[in-house]
Amino acid sequence: MVVQTCDVLIVGAGVNGLTTALQLAIRGATVIIVDQTSPAQQASWAGAGMLPPGFRTTSESAELRLRSLSCQLWPAVNRQLQELQCLDNEFVQCGAMLLFQRYDEAQREAHKWQQDGAVAELHDVRSLQSRCPQIGPAWQFAVELPEQAQVRNPRHLKSLLEACRRLGVQILSDCACPPLTKQISSGRIEIGEQRFEFQKMLLCCGAWISELLSRYSPGFAVQPVRGQIAQLRGAPDLLPCILEVGRRYLVPRQDGLILVGSTEEHVGFQCETTEQGVQELLRFAADVVPELAGLPLVHQWAGLRPGSPDELPAIGFLPGFENVVIACGHFRSGLQMSPGTAAIASALLCGETPPIEITGFEPERFLANAEGTSSGSVPVE
Ligand SMILES: Cc1cc2nc3c(=O)[nH]c(=O)nc-3n(C[C@H](O)[C@H](O)[C@H](O)COP(=O)(O)OP(=O)(O)OC[C@H]3O[C@@H](n4cnc5c(N)ncnc54)[C@H](O)[C@@H]3O)c2cc1C
Repeated sequence: MVVQTCDVLIVGAGVNGLTTALQLAIRGATVIIVDQTSPAQQASWAGAGMLPPGFRTTSESAELRLRSLSCQLWPAVNRQLQELQCLDNEFVQCGAMLLFQRYDEAQREAHKWQQDGAVAELHDVRSLQSRCPQIGPAWQFAVELPEQAQVRNPRHLKSLLEACRRLGVQILSDCACPPLTKQISSGRIEIGEQRFEFQKMLLCCGAWISELLSRYSPGFAVQPVRGQIAQLRGAPDLLPCILEVGRRYLVPRQDGLILVGSTEEHVGFQCETTEQGVQELLRFAADVVPELAGLPLVHQWAGLRPGSPDELPAIGFLPGFENVVIACGHFRSGLQMSPGTAAIASALLCGETPPIEITGFEPERFLANAEGTSSGSVPVE
């Protein structure tokens, strides 16, 4: 049996595992990441890469605190990647336009963003048409968020992988961590023919976390939620910014590709696109910007979001273990929240105080029979 030792063993090479590995490696920790398939190929690859603004790291809202911390940290992560000469991830503050049919809805939305500290400009039909003449007639009002950014997430992940490897992080493919037992509190786990000996362990396995915890807490409340995306080939600058209607959106990339997303489906671990899902997305695109109806569909894909009941991640020590931290369940916001998640997780793993208050992210709340504090769940052999 091959024995591998490290300071931190990370399960899952998605955006959260890789960003945390990078921060730990920069601090000088030795890190190994294991992934059950290939690294950087699941939800973090499939997402759209929208990064909404946030400016309140001391807010009472846990969501706003983490979003704001992440917004603050995105430029720092980008700098780290640039310093390591990794692939350009096309991070850009591109702005977004949230579209509405009714004035009162647009006004409420603008107010909400302004309260969060963001610039949110309300448009009526005239200013909307002069700002975005491509928009279809159904949309009369809009809230413009000029501070919204996007990242081209497949490139960001490639860049993170490069950075981690350059700093000596070992990333192992086809290395599926089995369901956890009490054994991990001893700092040892066997995966296939390899034994890993570690000081700390970090669980970043997205939609699969419930399977990993199935012997510890059957029914851990994070479930896969499929999202499909259709990709059109347009001309660069065909759309002036991201366009959003509720939970659906059009995201223009710099080279003219346009992502049309996305569905929200509870179909277990099925991760294929469907004719019906893609057609729905294409109808949506043509409804928002009629001229998109003529564009070629060049690609379509699906990913599994780690859906949690309150749509917020679990970040903290796994109850009953002093050496295991969990960072899973980011649902629709895992790319956006990855810098903040990594900052919190690496602080916890290094025995430091996290940079923001982490109340509201307790893993306990997703344990079966949890009643807010401790569930009484006991790890089983
Ligand atoms: C269609 C779609 C659009 C989205 N758009 C956005 C967006 O615009 N903005 C945004 O912020 N978020 C978006 N998201 C959500 C975001 O993609 C996810 O929240 C985020 O990627 C979760 O990252 P993760 O690292 O936790 O999980 P993942 O990227 O899923 O990575 C988990 C990894 O763990 C591995 N793994 C699992 N179990 C094991 C095991 N037992 N052993 C070893 N490895 C294991 C998996 O193979 C995988 O590589 C979108 C998601 C989808 C599907």
